[in-house]
Amino acid sequence: MREQLVFLLQLQQSDAKVRELEAAATSLPAKLDPLRRDLAKLQGMLDTERAKLNETETWRKQQQELIDREREALKTAQSKLQATKNSKEFGAATREVENKRKSISDREAELKKVTETTVASNAQLEARDKDVEGVRSELTASEAAQSGQLNEIITNLAAARATRDEARANVDKQFLKLYDSLAAKRGYAVAPVVKGVCQGCHMALPPQLNNILARMESIETCPRCGRLVYRKELLEPAATEAPKPPA
Ligand SMILES: [Zn+2]
Repeated sequence: MREQLVFLLQLQQSDAKVRELEAAATSLPAKLDPLRRDLAKLQGMLDTERAKLNETETWRKQQQELIDREREALKTAQSKLQATKNSKEFGAATREVENKRKSISDREAELKKVTETTVASNAQLEARDKDVEGVRSELTASEAAQSGQLNEIITNLAAARATRDEARANVDKQFLKLYDSLAAKRGYAVAPVVKGVCQGCHMALPPQLNNILARMESIETCPRCGRLVYRKELLEPAATEAPKPPA
């Protein structure tokens, strides 16, 4: 029975290893999600800024065209002014020239301001562009590293599954059924007993049962949690006496 207990424990350990590796393989790709979200957010901000800048550029062109047209109108007004024949015409033409000049200079002043802002925005955008590129290459590098990690996990998982299958083959069918139903119901099926206490549910076993366990002639279950139990010191003396070897 000692051998069967050892096989059951091996099965339990290899089952846990398989589950652990399966969980790692599933959760690994999601680990880069925060970085992906950051990148999408930065890219979105950049796109918005670029669109705004394009709008401003369109506006600037329109303003420049307006100024050009106003300059033409100013020339016309100036010729009109030169051709004035009396003081009434002269006054009106002068006001028109003045108005046009003022309008042009106002528009030019505004255009100058906007152009300066645009230059600053362009510089900022370039800097942001570099930041985004930095995040993007970080993500690419991380994805490459992750793909290597995932391959390693998959290799280890295949090995762990093979070990688990071997362990299952060693366990008697009668115990396997019990093991499977306990593992499904309780998370794990085999629990050590330390100083008479089941480590699966922390109940003190009846002393008689503890004595039966000492003989290792049968495989017993805990009266409370139903797990397959064994006396820890009989199967894992090294773990309790000697310090763990360095990992
Ligand atoms: Zn128990």
